[in-house]
Amino acid sequence: MPPAVRVRFAPSPTGLLHVGGGRTALFNWLLAHGQARRAGSDGAFILRIEDTDRARLVEGAEQGILDVLAWFGLTWDEGPDVGGPHAPYRQSERTALYREAAERLLASGDAYRCFCSPERLQAVREAQVARKEAPGYDRHCRGIERDASFARAQAGDPYVIRFAMPREGETVVHDALRGEIVYQNANLEDLVLLKTDGFPTYHLANVVDDHDMAVSHILRGEEWIPTAPLHLRLYAAFGWEAPSLAHLPLILAPGGGKLSKRHGSTSMEEFRAQGYLPEALMNYLALLGWSLDGETEIFSKADLLEKFTLERVSPSPATFDYAKLRWFNAHYINHIVALDDLVGRVAPFLADAGLVDRAAVADPSHPDRARARPAVALLKDRMETLAEAPDLLAPFLRDALESYDPALLVPKKGSSAETLAALEAVARMLPEVDLDDEAATEARFRALADELGLKAGTLFMPIRVAVTGRTQSPGLFETMRVVGAARCTRRLDAAIEALRALVPAPA
Ligand code: GLU
Repeated sequence: MPPAVRVRFAPSPTGLLHVGGGRTALFNWLLAHGQARRAGSDGAFILRIEDTDRARLVEGAEQGILDVLAWFGLTWDEGPDVGGPHAPYRQSERTALYREAAERLLASGDAYRCFCSPERLQAVREAQVARKEAPGYDRHCRGIERDASFARAQAGDPYVIRFAMPREGETVVHDALRGEIVYQNANLEDLVLLKTDGFPTYHLANVVDDHDMAVSHILRGEEWIPTAPLHLRLYAAFGWEAPSLAHLPLILAPGGGKLSKRHGSTSMEEFRAQGYLPEALMNYLALLGWSLDGETEIFSKADLLEKFTLERVSPSPATFDYAKLRWFNAHYINHIVALDDLVGRVAPFLADAGLVDRAAVADPSHPDRARARPAVALLKDRMETLAEAPDLLAPFLRDALESYDPALLVPKKGSSAETLAALEAVARMLPEVDLDDEAATEARFRALADELGLKAGTLFMPIRVAVTGRTQSPGLFETMRVVGAARCTRRLDAAIEALRALVPAPA
C-alpha cells in the first residue's frame, strides 16, 4: 500500500472563515479523501486549531469554523471534536510539547534566549528603517554565552527563544506547484519560536504538530511561502523529515488586489447566510486554482473526489468572481437540487420571513412544505440565492397581498375605466374556469380579450398585478394555478375595489 497521505487544515480561530481558507480546506480534503484514496493510500484529513496567538482569539470562532466546514460538506478524520490518535488537536492544549521542543533546540544550539526589551527592538527597527535597511532582529543576544544566558533566565530576566538561522548557505524550498524557491540564509531572520508568556509562535507550534501528527503533505495559501525556509530549517534542526509542500494560488479581488470586505462578502459564513448552497460554493471554489480540462465547469462533490489531482492545481493567482459564483448557485438551485430538497433548503429562509411555520424547517412532512412546494417549483428558475425566496414566494404563500399601488393595474396604453371593466369581466368568468387546466384557462382568457376588443397583453397585465401585486411573475396561467381560485377571486375583487376608487366619477 502506498504511504498514507495525511493532510491538515489548521485555522486560527480569529474570526469568520475566509473563502480562501474554505478553498484550502477543500483542496486538502480532496487530496486525502479523493486523490490519495483513489490511489489506494490511506488518506486522512486532520482539523487542527491553531490558537496560540491569545491576543487574536475570538470567542466562538472555533465552533463557527467547525460548523461552517460541516455545512460546506467536509468531514475530518481527526480533530478537536472527534479526537484521534494525536489528540489534543487544539494547540493551546499542547503547550508542554512546544516548550520541550524549544528546550531541545536551546540544548543543541539551534536556538537561543533573547532578552531584548520591546523598546530596544523598536529602536533597532527604527534605525534600520532610517538607514533604508530591511528591518529585522540584529541577533544581539545570539552571542551571549550559554551559561550566562542560563543564569539570566534563572534570575527571572524575561526572554523569548529565537531560532539561530544558519548565517551562510541557502535554503531551498521545493514547492510541488512552483518548483524550487531559493533563499539566501544570510537574508533570513532569527525569528521567535517561544514567546515571553511561554506560548509558542505559529512557526514552532506548526512544525512540531505537523511532525507529531505525521502530516505528509502541507497544502496552504501562497501567503505562507515566506515562512517555509524557517520551517524547513526547523525540521532539519530537529532531525525530522519535512512534509511535502504546496502553496495554493492567491485569490484576488475582481480588478486585482487582496479580496476584502470592500469588494463584498469574503467569508464562508456570509455566503451561507445569503443563501448560497454548499455544493455551488464547493464547485466554484474548486475552480479557483484547479481545473480538469480547462472547460468542464460543473462538478459535484462526488465528481471532485473522483477527479481532483494536485498536479492540476495551477500556481497562478485566481480571481474571485461574484457574478460567476451567483451563476453557479442559480444553476444548482434550478437544475441540480431535487425539488423536495430545495423546499427544505428554502424553509429556514421562509420561516424567518414568517411565510411557513418554524416547525417546517426540520420536518419534511410538515404541511407547510407541501404548501410551499408548487410555488418553489414555479419560482426556482428566478431564484439565484435561497435568501431571495421569501420575496419571490410571498405572493404565493401569504393569504393577502402586501399593498401595492393600484396605478400598476392600469396598462400604459389603457385607462382605469377600461381596466376596471376588463377585470370585472374576468371576475365574472373566473368561477367557470378550472385553473388547474392552464391551457383551457388561457384559451378562455384569450377569447375574453377578443370579446373586449383588447390585446391579450392588455388584459393579462392587470390580471397579473391583481393576482400577485407585481408587474413581473412567471407565466400568468401557471401563476394563477399556484395562487389558486379562492385567492385569485379575493385578489381580483380587491383590485376591482381599488380601481373603482381610481375611476373618475361619470360627469
Ligand atoms: N494557522 C495558520 C492559518 O491560520 C495555518 C497556516 C498553515 O497552514 O501552515 O492559516
